[in-house]
Amino acid sequence: ATPTAVMVGMGKGAENNILIRDAESLELAQKIDTIILDKTGTITEGKPKVENILWSDDLDNDEIQKLSANLLGIESQSEHPLAKAICLELEQKSHKTNAPNHFESVTGKGVEASYKDDSYFVGNQKLLEENQIDIPQAFQVFAEERANQGKTLVFFAQKNKALAIISISDQIKEGSKEAIKSLQDSGIEVHMLTGDQKNAALHIAKEAGIQHIKAGVLPSEKGNYVKTLQEQGKIVAMVGDGINDSEALAMADVSIAMGHGSDIAMDVAKITLITSDLRKIPQAIRLSKLTVRGIK
Ligand code: ADP
Ligand code: MG
Repeated sequence: ATPTAVMVGMGKGAENNILIRDAESLELAQKIDTIILDKTGTITEGKPKVENILWSDDLDNDEIQKLSANLLGIESQSEHPLAKAICLELEQKSHKTNAPNHFESVTGKGVEASYKDDSYFVGNQKLLEENQIDIPQAFQVFAEERANQGKTLVFFAQKNKALAIISISDQIKEGSKEAIKSLQDSGIEVHMLTGDQKNAALHIAKEAGIQHIKAGVLPSEKGNYVKTLQEQGKIVAMVGDGINDSEALAMADVSIAMGHGSDIAMDVAKITLITSDLRKIPQAIRLSKLTVRGIK
């Protein structure tokens, strides 16, 4: 494309809330044959809500109050949307908060925190398994039932005891389904990648109309997934909103970040969808086609 066409293309993009940061991305977008979408915050709203909290049945009300204050104190330190949902729920139930002395994220799994004499974990099943914490029968039953309904599960545990299981649901964004269908109709293969558990992922994929999915992936595996498709000769676009997507974004032929997402994702990505609306992707591809053909 001529420099003028590129400038016009970028200008038209900006008018439509599609920020394109380099000429190469604008020119390459029309060649994309594979698109990988992150689930949380990209396909879904990323504003999950707590549906239910099941506490271990040997805890009395005083203990639950104290542990809730710890859970709120811990999750207040996390930026993860699941943490925000948990905080919102506990704040609405007017629980006290008790900040931990030490807090640490565990990549792809959750968080670890400690107080003077106790340490705690909040995260997915992998986090509990990694720390050899048994999951009681009642939690397993709860987990299976909710996962089949597409809910995400978060576990709250002490050093060697599971304390609570929390079910959380997230809605598909308006326009996601339509955008995915439009991409598929134009011959593009659409994939979904997520750090979330398989059942929740399958539920969202089904609702969104996506056949190719991979769940339970770590951030570094998101990058590898892009690479594997590229090695098959595909021209790959990665779409994501989180720090955990940045490696995959950097690896992709075309990288697209959500405007509401983390600064890191937007720094790495060459294209930002200001309104976080996936329908802007087919629009960006059309713009790319027009640019390469040479708009005046
Ligand atoms: P994704 O954006 O696809 O959900 P992440 O890598 O951000 O992937 O997170 C992976 C998983 O780790 C989450 O799905 C969740 O199960 C768990 N997790 C991460 N941070 C937290 C947190 N603060 N509280 C509870 N669970 C968490
Ligand atoms: Mg995400």
